[in-house]
This record gives sequence, structure tokens and C-alpha cells, in this order.
Amino acid sequence: MTDTAPYLPDFAPRFDTDLVRPYWDALARGHMVLPACSVCGAWQWYPYEFIKCHADAHQDWKPVPATGTLFTYTVVHRSFLPNAPRDTEPYVSALVELDGIPGVRIPTFLVNLEGRTPAIGMRVRLSPLPRSSYTAPAFEPVGQESRP
Ligand SMILES: [Zn+2]
Repeated sequence: MTDTAPYLPDFAPRFDTDLVRPYWDALARGHMVLPACSVCGAWQWYPYEFIKCHADAHQDWKPVPATGTLFTYTVVHRSFLPNAPRDTEPYVSALVELDGIPGVRIPTFLVNLEGRTPAIGMRVRLSPLPRSSYTAPAFEPVGQESRP
């Protein structure tokens, strides 16, 4: 099988803590979950040992929409890994805001651009990238339009 994202690291994130395990498990199943306060429902991204708003709360992992908007991006012209093939460059590192999840920005990669130029405000949808030891968060453009 050809590696569709040789620029991505292929070593597993930390699974030895429940702090982030639900996030990676959900990505492996093709969707995304994020932690929220069990008392008031406020999103808590990034995951943190203590809930910011309620001392007696815990993290509830909730499914989130697979669609969103490109908040910002950068086209990376250097390999993330020293041994990545040079013909994989450049790639697009991005922050995505999910629909209906205010204040949360997901660090991710843009994939399947198929000639489209990234643009802030571009509509995107989740397109997880399976690696040999984990599944990476990635998004792809939806349609041709972008918002200003
Ligand atoms: Zn709360």
C-alpha cells in the first residue's frame, strides 16, 4: 500500500492516559469527539487534567460535527521528518473551526486538495488519515466555494 501522507509522523500519540485516548479512538473509527465540562457543557480543548469552569466536573467526550471552516493554514515547504521523501513537499498544516463548536480550533492537515488552493474560510470536512499505529486528524475541502 502506498503511504498517502509520508510527511506525517508514524508513531502513536500517548495512549497511556485517558486524558486524550477518546480523541484518538474516535478518529480511528472515522469521527471526532471533544471533551466538554460535565456540568455546564463548555468545550475544553485542549484536554486538561482539571475542568476550567467547575471544580467538581469531569470531561464528557461528545461527538462533534465532521464539517467546519478553515481558520488559518500554512503551506510547509520542509519535511516534518528528516527521512521523508522530498517529493512529498509541500503539505498544508491548518487550524479548523468545527461547525457549532465555538472557540475550538483543531490542529490538523489539509488533504485531497486536488489542485485547489487553500483559503481562509474554505469549507472542509473530516477525512482521517490512517497511519500504521494511529489515525491522524485531517480535513479535505468541500465543494469549490470559500467564504471571505
Ligand atoms: Zn462547566
